Amino acid sequence: MLLTVTTTHAPATDLGFLLHKHPDRVQEFAQSFGTATVFYPEATEERCTVALMLDVDPVRLARSRARNAPDFSLAQYVNDRSYAASSLLGVAMADVFSTARSGRCRSRQELADSAIPLEVTIPVLPCRGGPDVAHRLFEPLGWTVEAEPIALDEAIEGWGASRYVRLRLTGTVRLADALNQLHVLLPVLDESKHYWQGPDEVDKLMRSGEGWLASHPASRLITQRYLGRRSGLTRTALARLAELGDDLEDAVEPAEDEEAQQPEQARVPLNTQRHDAVLQMLLDLGARSVIDLGCGPGQFLQRLVRTPAFTRVAGSDVSTRSLQHAARRLRLERMSERQAERIELFQGALTYEDARYAGFDAAVLMEVVEHVDPPRLEALERVVFGAARPGAVVVTTPNSEYNALYESLVGMRHPDHRFEWTRAELGEWAERVCRTYGYRVEVHGIGDHDESLGTPTQMAVFTRLTDEQADEKEGDDD
Ligand code: SAH
Repeated sequence: MLLTVTTTHAPATDLGFLLHKHPDRVQEFAQSFGTATVFYPEATEERCTVALMLDVDPVRLARSRARNAPDFSLAQYVNDRSYAASSLLGVAMADVFSTARSGRCRSRQELADSAIPLEVTIPVLPCRGGPDVAHRLFEPLGWTVEAEPIALDEAIEGWGASRYVRLRLTGTVRLADALNQLHVLLPVLDESKHYWQGPDEVDKLMRSGEGWLASHPASRLITQRYLGRRSGLTRTALARLAELGDDLEDAVEPAEDEEAQQPEQARVPLNTQRHDAVLQMLLDLGARSVIDLGCGPGQFLQRLVRTPAFTRVAGSDVSTRSLQHAARRLRLERMSERQAERIELFQGALTYEDARYAGFDAAVLMEVVEHVDPPRLEALERVVFGAARPGAVVVTTPNSEYNALYESLVGMRHPDHRFEWTRAELGEWAERVCRTYGYRVEVHGIGDHDESLGTPTQMAVFTRLTDEQADEKEGDDD
């Protein structure tokens, strides 16, 4: 089975740097199920192609399985694994190009961070659900997709198409994103994911899906298929994607049994409920100018921009990659000048004072505080409540008590969370902030309410006290 990736970004041979594989060499990498070979069929300044060829040894594949794997049958030895691209190719790719997948490249970091013209071909790809599914999976990621069904037998008319397609993707995409997308989507298209899954599969999916899966319109389908029929794992993954700001409501499912088992599907996803609640709160507060602090890839920012009541909208984040996603989402480049004047996007760390944070009616810290190391949290408080001092600050954060309801969730909801607060812990923190900086707070719940555990998300709404109110308050405290 074969996968090729071509770029025409001059000098094209820089692809070798990005992949950490020299274009002049042929390299072999042993896999538990066979051998992966990397070589460059063409390598000129104008055009450079890398090929990953995987030789699957069916006997080794059968032996590399866990002893308690479910199918002891001839199918272990007689199958399409040796010929068709599949989840095995995804696994080999992850192993062979692991550094490239992380987006690190010491000698060409800027190139590794840039979207470059790419062409990916897979001559034989099993495509569960037909060519349409390939379009649905790759097109929202910016690829032009050609998925041409392969005839069962070209010599015999009437036999029709096989379940395989010849896939060609072209687009301008960051190489690391392309590799991660293939790593996740090849097994999603494959009928039979070959390996056994444990809870760390969810972590792997979150890592590979970083920056693109949460906002993918078919993220539910991808998650369900990637994790097989393990509905507990799927639910955990979906909860974690919701933490990242996922658009689950856009997912339209084909009629397949695995999807039919999801009664919750009709419900409004948590991140949508969160966006609705914060937006309504900002409107109720009468805010006209709003800054979204730690805006991430800009989903909520988009809601703000689409709301005419807000005359000035800003977003800032420490991650330039997230800001690039946000700019793309908002179509900043294609906006009219008048629209663009309403919007600012800038990079900044919330633990350092920055004059650009000041001058807004309201600031939003949506699912951000729990990403900050506890010893740095006071710096953030000083920057937001002490220096920027907006009239209102809306903070949302997970309610850790509610985690008990996420089946098979081990630890926190997101690998980057530094803490998750109980309702009492948020309350204590909020009270301290109010005492220190002269604000008053009200805490609300967002999401389904559980009698004893509360809601999945908690929202603290801080409003700045006037000088008189602050003086009065001081009087009370004395
Ligand atoms: N508010 C968005 C994103 C939440 S994820 C949403 O609700 O969808 C948390 C975000 O906070 C990430 O984008 C991360 O880059 C950002 N972040 C974490 N620590 C930060 C810091 N110290 N300064 C600025 N942004 C930070």
